[in-house]
Amino acid sequence: MIKSTAISYTLKMNKLYRPGFIRCFSDDNTNHPHPIKRTLKLLRNDMKKVKQFFTPTSENNIDIKREKDHDSTPLDSSEFQTHCDVLIIGGGSIGSSAAYWLKKKARQGLNIVVIERNSPISNGRAFSTMPVGGLRQQFFLPENIEMSLYGAEFMRNSKDELGVDINFDPQGFLTLASEENAELLNKMSKLQNEFGARTEILTAERLKLKYPWLNVEDVAIGCQGLEKHGWFDADMLVLGLRNKAKEYGVHFIKSELVGFEFQNQPDVIMEGATTETPYSALDKAVVEMSDGETRTIKFAICVLATGSNSEQIARMANIGTGPGILQVPLPIARRENFSYTFKSDDINMPGLGTPCVADWNGMYFRRDGLTGNYIAGFGTNMKSNNESKERIFENTILPNLIRRLNVLQNATVTESLEASYEYNVYDENGIIGTHPYYNNLYIATGFSGLGLQQSPAVGRAISEIIIDGQFRTIDLTRIGFDRLIVDRPMYEYSFM
Ligand SMILES: Cc1cc2nc3c(=O)[nH]c(=O)nc-3n(C[C@H](O)[C@H](O)[C@H](O)COP(=O)(O)OP(=O)(O)OC[C@H]3O[C@@H](n4cnc5c(N)ncnc54)[C@H](O)[C@@H]3O)c2cc1C
Repeated sequence: MIKSTAISYTLKMNKLYRPGFIRCFSDDNTNHPHPIKRTLKLLRNDMKKVKQFFTPTSENNIDIKREKDHDSTPLDSSEFQTHCDVLIIGGGSIGSSAAYWLKKKARQGLNIVVIERNSPISNGRAFSTMPVGGLRQQFFLPENIEMSLYGAEFMRNSKDELGVDINFDPQGFLTLASEENAELLNKMSKLQNEFGARTEILTAERLKLKYPWLNVEDVAIGCQGLEKHGWFDADMLVLGLRNKAKEYGVHFIKSELVGFEFQNQPDVIMEGATTETPYSALDKAVVEMSDGETRTIKFAICVLATGSNSEQIARMANIGTGPGILQVPLPIARRENFSYTFKSDDINMPGLGTPCVADWNGMYFRRDGLTGNYIAGFGTNMKSNNESKERIFENTILPNLIRRLNVLQNATVTESLEASYEYNVYDENGIIGTHPYYNNLYIATGFSGLGLQQSPAVGRAISEIIIDGQFRTIDLTRIGFDRLIVDRPMYEYSFM
């Protein structure tokens, strides 16, 4: 009943909102829209949101599929906001998740803006063309185990949460260890089980029985992750988060952050601040629109979620270049990564139901579902030494694959990919929480190759510290920016 009223009202407003109708009232409808035009536009937007709210989820699914296939819908720049409560810089998985969670909790209570310089599919590239979307809990730090467990729960409930199916495929994850690192893998598995992740240690003999195609000559043990390990459709996750956030009323503006404006606050006492150079708070974001125009957005709170560009953005706020605490940079670098899709006509290759297998040197492979292809790469840093992608496969990937897959005689690469992600050069772990100098700047970046699977938990955590003033579900205090200042690294040993 409510739905039909909302739709018919929207139609009525659309009839009134004809360009000709507006033009007779306004001389210059670009810079100074006539008040009636502005009111009608606002009403129309509100009605659109009401309609979207009551639209069945299956329609949302179709929209997302269309965006995924054609990457055709630009980020909405028609509703430019000069002021907002929370400005999120970066609309990738982390920024979109933060927007989704903040708006889900606060609804009309907060005006939230996301600025993103690229098209909706993260970094302008479709994840569907990349072998990403792995989810595992095989970590050393409780924070990562817990975030990942929540990630799996969120993916499983993606239809309820986002109205789309993220196609979580729980085929498992198998980490292999040599004699040298077997003890560490054992210890990690115990911890993972204590925190509710189901992982199981298998001896080399059991591995051989279970996976006859696996060469276990140099393997001491394996750690198999059971039901909450697998992979998912990364595009669907990012677009699902973004579209749901938009539906809740988040404004996505296609623009690039090019700087900040500051406001001196001489009353604030802060290390490094003096009477000559008083404490200076972050006040406005300076953004460049797609047409080259520069505008500002005033914000109360800013969330930095710019992936591998985060260090540069932080520098715009004098982080890493200023006095006192500001001397400490945000240690995020762009890390190159290569991955390959290959096929093989060897008949005993791993079948459906094969987990993703990770070696202790960082090499991984898995079957690509029904396609019959396989995906392989290195999770750890790969130095290309200016080698071509083809040479890297021949010289590095293939010998490692043959060493592990005793049935592999030949492999033909059907697709190769060179991509990069945000890498925390300090301790290879995410950084989340407020900046110790700017109490209105929240950082959420550096998840070092885990940014997709951790994004549901990271977005939720950002909403907690902004709205509730503290972490409520998973305590992530130890992976905040402060550890950089007191020099307390939080190393993760995830084997890849
Ligand atoms: C080959 C490969 C395989 C991977 N596999 C997995 C996997 O299996 N599981 C997993 O969880 N993760 C995986 N990852 C990592 C994952 O892709 C990243 O960790 C994740 O995308 C990071 O999300 P993010 O939102 O922090 O950053 P991004 O996705 O990079 O988003 C940051 C956004 O900020 C925007 N931005 C930057 N600067 C500005 C600016 N000045 N103004 C406006 N916008 C700006 C960018 O355009 C970008 O869209 C993989 C990565 C690669 C390359």
